[in-house]
Amino acid sequence: MGTTLDTGVKLVRNVGRYNIGAGSLDELQPLLARRRATARGQGDSAAVVFLVDEFFRGDNRLAERLGLQPGDALEFVATADEPTTAGIDAVVATLRRRGLTQPAAVVGMGGGITMDTAKCTSNLLANGGQAADYQGWDLVRVPGIFKIGIPTVSGTGAEATRTCVMTNPVSGLKLGMNSDHTVFDHVIMDPELTATVPRDQYFHTGMDAYIHCIESLGGSYRNAIGDAYSRETINLCRQVFGPGDMMAPERREQLMVAAYLGGCAIATSYVGVVHPLSAGLSVVLGIHHCVGNCIVMRAMQDFYPAAYDEFWRWADLQRVHIPQGVCAGLDDAGFEALYQASIVHGKPLTNALGEGYREILTRERMRALFEAM
Ligand code: ZN
Repeated sequence: MGTTLDTGVKLVRNVGRYNIGAGSLDELQPLLARRRATARGQGDSAAVVFLVDEFFRGDNRLAERLGLQPGDALEFVATADEPTTAGIDAVVATLRRRGLTQPAAVVGMGGGITMDTAKCTSNLLANGGQAADYQGWDLVRVPGIFKIGIPTVSGTGAEATRTCVMTNPVSGLKLGMNSDHTVFDHVIMDPELTATVPRDQYFHTGMDAYIHCIESLGGSYRNAIGDAYSRETINLCRQVFGPGDMMAPERREQLMVAAYLGGCAIATSYVGVVHPLSAGLSVVLGIHHCVGNCIVMRAMQDFYPAAYDEFWRWADLQRVHIPQGVCAGLDDAGFEALYQASIVHGKPLTNALGEGYREILTRERMRALFEAM
């Protein structure tokens, strides 16, 4: 007997293959050479679409490291705003205009925004239509173009999950293409790529992995696989963010693994109170997902007391900045919008607080929480 929040794991799709370790980016070119040869053999396009975080725009060795060839597309993904349905449609339209309707592979290299953009683009190229057509559960009809994920900042777990989140400004919906076809076919995890991430961003993003798992383990709807992934993710985070430099080479590798395992954990379970409130901050104030989670942690003492202590100890140890007072200056309508954009996330809130979550997270309580951020 299932409930709306049944997480008895039935059928889970994981990433097809992966490489892990310093220098593993070198595996990209041989992998692409095989994909290109197969495509040519079948009379198909051997072109590759590279979607790369704009952070790498100035890297003059980029084309060489990616093995860019004539006929390939290299598009930089803007990261000032999280992906929108219109933004994804624009990327796909550009590729279609250039005749890249069935490339041999789509490569996404960057943070969560770029990973999600690559996943959405791959699905849309193969399925046709518009991004908004596939926002929801299991709406993607056929497998996307072969997709390769190369994370360059660790935490969101976007490299491991079966969704790619987009905001649809028309419907106000923030929802992904939740599908087995969204999972990357191949992931390359090279911790050398995270050496240049700014420290605050490294911490904020890394905490997404930790928060996924404390929320998952703190919920009522659990399963043995998700719990195991979560426990190990938290163990790794303790080694990364405890005393010493969180960005030492071996710690960057540990965090890359933690992010991947945290993504696997959340793919089979639910988040809790932090993510719904962070989504509220995102919709109303445009605050990005990972820093939003960290801001929400200011108000989580009652909900996750042990994690609250651990989080702030690490923020202190690693001397990172968490923004404060982000809701100061909001009027009643602003707080109402925050309430609505948060309380709408019934699944994780039920996981954390039970069916009566609306009686616990009243408008007044919610306002006090946001005021504390
Ligand atoms: Zn998250």
